[in-house]
Amino acid sequence: MAQSDTLPDAESPSAPSSVNGDKKKRSSSKMGRDKDRSASKKRGNTSDPNMLAVSMPTANGGNAHAERRSSVSKPARDFRDMPEPSPKKKRKRKTATAPTTAVIPVVTAPTPTTPDIESSTRSPSPVIDFDGLSRPSRGTRERLEESDAQKEERLARMKGAVRTLLECVGEDPDREGLLATPERYAKAMLFLTKGYQENVRDIVNGAIFQEGHNEMVIVKDIEVFSMCEHHLVPFTGKMHIGYIPANAVIGISKLPRIAELFARRLQIQERLTKDVANAIMDVLQPQGVAVVMESSHLCMVMRGVEKTSSSTITSCVLGCFERKEKTRNEFLSLIGVNRR
Ligand SMILES: [Zn+2]
Repeated sequence: MAQSDTLPDAESPSAPSSVNGDKKKRSSSKMGRDKDRSASKKRGNTSDPNMLAVSMPTANGGNAHAERRSSVSKPARDFRDMPEPSPKKKRKRKTATAPTTAVIPVVTAPTPTTPDIESSTRSPSPVIDFDGLSRPSRGTRERLEESDAQKEERLARMKGAVRTLLECVGEDPDREGLLATPERYAKAMLFLTKGYQENVRDIVNGAIFQEGHNEMVIVKDIEVFSMCEHHLVPFTGKMHIGYIPANAVIGISKLPRIAELFARRLQIQERLTKDVANAIMDVLQPQGVAVVMESSHLCMVMRGVEKTSSSTITSCVLGCFERKEKTRNEFLSLIGVNRR
């Protein structure tokens, strides 16, 4: 798997795969990328599969998929780090004709997709805000800061919604077995999304130690339970986190806790992987971070394609893991993902 896995600069321009195209774009500077994209738009250049993917008229989530790599050993970039994703450009054009009004739908639920990028209070990059709250949505902060009365009101609304669900699937919500179900489900849901009320800085809580250690540290097989934001159905699996310190090391138990924080939100696996990597990068500033996650999605196993044995692997490598193939491969062989 290593042949095509050269450093971005060393790639040949005739490389056919879109993965290499991805890399090419990543290696160019932000400015260059911008220019590239707008230039290719003017030219109507559709020969580059990567450009095609970027300018697809999808929502931001769609872009994330377009930017996915086909191999775990390829470096990743968060689409939110891109300077000007094309949907934004579209929006600009829209606002030119019809100013501001229809742009932002009222979103009360914590939906970590488009509204987040639209809200002007937060720049799309860096990905992690250190209050750890503003990334998903405004509702997140409301949830953290609510009073007891507001908490009751939230629970009542959730119970009502679950009752409606029960009615709509053809159940009798008043039969004995279901009487307390709305409340149980509401509380379970709040637990499964408790990551919205936590933030990285509190979790790390100063557990960063100047040890002068510069060798790779890996915590592997961290159990992760998260919720697919597309179906509100769990996905579970294992996460492997590695980093190379720049002198400072982080308390080893903090890595699973950071994984837990981001897993307890509505997620897609791709973003979960990147959230964890970026958070560690930001809070510890090591030489590099690598995160690999393998998981099984119940929305795929129990419904849809019903592929019960498939697992999805995502990775995000930053810093020296992104730059050095050797380092990346050492990590991958230590966690055992490269084994076939
Ligand atoms: Zn799903």
